[in-house]
Amino acid sequence: MFAKRNPARLVKIGTLAMGGGQPIVLQSMCATKTADIEATAAQVDQLTAAGAGLVRVAVDTAADCRALAEIRRRTQANLSVDLQENYRLAAEVAPWVDKIRYNPGHLYHHQRNVPWEDKVRFLAEVAAAHDCALRVGVNCGSVDPAKTDRYAADGPLRAMLESALEHCELLDRLGFTRYCVSLKDSDPAKVVEVNRQFARRRPDVPLHLGVTEAGMPPEGICKTRAALMPLLAQGIGDTIRVSLTVPAARKHEEIAAGRQILDDLAAGRTLVPDEVAGTRLNIISCPSCSRVENAAFVALAEQVRAATRYAADLPITIAVMGCRVNGPGEADHADLGLWCGPASVNLKRGGAVLGSFGYSEILARLRAELNALIASCPTNRNP
Ligand code: SF4
Repeated sequence: MFAKRNPARLVKIGTLAMGGGQPIVLQSMCATKTADIEATAAQVDQLTAAGAGLVRVAVDTAADCRALAEIRRRTQANLSVDLQENYRLAAEVAPWVDKIRYNPGHLYHHQRNVPWEDKVRFLAEVAAAHDCALRVGVNCGSVDPAKTDRYAADGPLRAMLESALEHCELLDRLGFTRYCVSLKDSDPAKVVEVNRQFARRRPDVPLHLGVTEAGMPPEGICKTRAALMPLLAQGIGDTIRVSLTVPAARKHEEIAAGRQILDDLAAGRTLVPDEVAGTRLNIISCPSCSRVENAAFVALAEQVRAATRYAADLPITIAVMGCRVNGPGEADHADLGLWCGPASVNLKRGGAVLGSFGYSEILARLRAELNALIASCPTNRNP
């Protein structure tokens, strides 16, 4: 049974109504190159047919914006656009979408002399002018650096929480209340904790729930279930996304996994795996999107899982990321972190950069570093 839902206000997104006691919305994101109109329009159709109430598309360039205009003409789906560093692209794409997602941690990269408050005001004005909702999307791999510094003593969850709260307060002051919030981490326990804290402080704000970089199925589904089930059972959450590292052709599996979570919740099957992370090898990998630097990324993630299986029982975290957006940040948090460039893969160990290696070299280098890591820790078993 669903618990009494948090009293989040109703936010209209295209034909959707989110929050306000409405059914929880399933959503996903295109993993195709946005400028590839045929592939992206087909992916929007694939996800919509699977049951996505909202489909997100990333834009980073003028070509992406032009493509989105054409994709809009081809679909009736509710579309969300994902902005990262270039927040001004919002003005180009707002006519074609129903929701704009921005990341507070990425508002610092462009126009560093412009206060972040002015940038949020710009986004709110663009959204209001084009009948769009907003999402304040906070991600553990790219937290606002000012908040990270200010709350260094309290840890990263405090920085994420304060960043989200600060943006909500500003949007409220601007008179723009048609927004939701997400607070995503790759650790399910942290997702539960930070969303509970946010919901206590702002029960009126609809929440988009998800585990970022949850990884490949089945582990990625288990991690997501471990985070979402306790929150949803407590009445927290208005839309969910299951992020899975799968090829674009299998992206509909994210919707199926999300529906299974909601069905199980409704049937009272709320048990979650009790051994998700911390005691076993934990592979974090992003779901990929239009920004992925090399089409080999998903295969690389699968190869990393296969090549490191011998360490399955060790409490080691390996991050495998598709690009630099959240790659370096996730790599810092992992014991070993990889993130893709166009022709090579960057590798970090414990936050220290080890170098950049070709796609044909990286697995051997990773195994060498993993062996060294295992050997350096007396509690670890020899591989
Ligand atoms: S890390 Fe890069 S490729 Fe992966 S989902 Fe995030 S933005 Fe997309």
